[in-house]
Amino acid sequence: MSAYRDKDPRIHGIQSKIRVVPDFPKPGIMFQDITTLLLDPKAFKDTVDLFVERYKGKNISVVAGIEARGFIFGPPIALEIGAKFVPLRKPKKLPGKVISEEYVLEYGRDCLEMHVGAVEPGERALVVDDLIATGGTLCAAMNLLERVGAEVVECACVIELPDLKGRERLNGKPLYVLVESH
Ligand code: AMP
Repeated sequence: MSAYRDKDPRIHGIQSKIRVVPDFPKPGIMFQDITTLLLDPKAFKDTVDLFVERYKGKNISVVAGIEARGFIFGPPIALEIGAKFVPLRKPKKLPGKVISEEYVLEYGRDCLEMHVGAVEPGERALVVDDLIATGGTLCAAMNLLERVGAEVVECACVIELPDLKGRERLNGKPLYVLVESH
C-alpha cells in the first residue's frame, strides 16, 4: 500500500461504491461490481482523477485498456494525459491484422488481441483494467505491448484481490491499485 493511497480521502468513497456480489458468475467467486461506482459521478471522477494525477507528465503515449472494463477507465485517463487509447480485445473483434496472447483467468481461459501498428516500438505504455485477480490478464496485455517493442511503465487497476497474489505474476512490473478487497 502506498502512503498516498492510504491518506487520500477519495479512496474510501470509491471503495464504498463497489458492490461485492457473492457467487457470481460461479459459486465461490466474490464478484467486484464496478457498475455501482459508475452510478456515482463523484466517485467515478475521483477514480479517473487519481490515475490522471499519477500519470500526467510521465511521458506516457499509450493507454492500453483491457476489454471490457478497461474500456471504461482507460479512455478518460488517456484523454487527460494526452495519450492515445489502444483497446486490447477478446478474439475476433478487431477487424485489422492482430497479434494474440492466450491466458488463464480466475474463472476460465481467454485470449487478448491488439491491432498490429497501433503501438510503435519505444512507446511508453500504461495498461488499465478494473481489477487484478490472478494477474493472467495483465500479463497477457503486457506481453502484447512488449512484443511490439513498447515499454510498459505500469499497470493500473481500481481493485486488487491480494489473496490471489496476481502481483507476483507481473515479472516485477509496477502495479498501482486504489482499493484492495479480501
Ligand atoms: P486475472 O487475469 O485473474 O487477474 O483476472 C482479471 C480479469 O478478470 C479482469 O478483467 C476482471 O475484470 C476479471 N475478474 C476476475 N476476477 C474478478 C472478480 N472477482 N470480480 C470482478 N471481475 C473479476
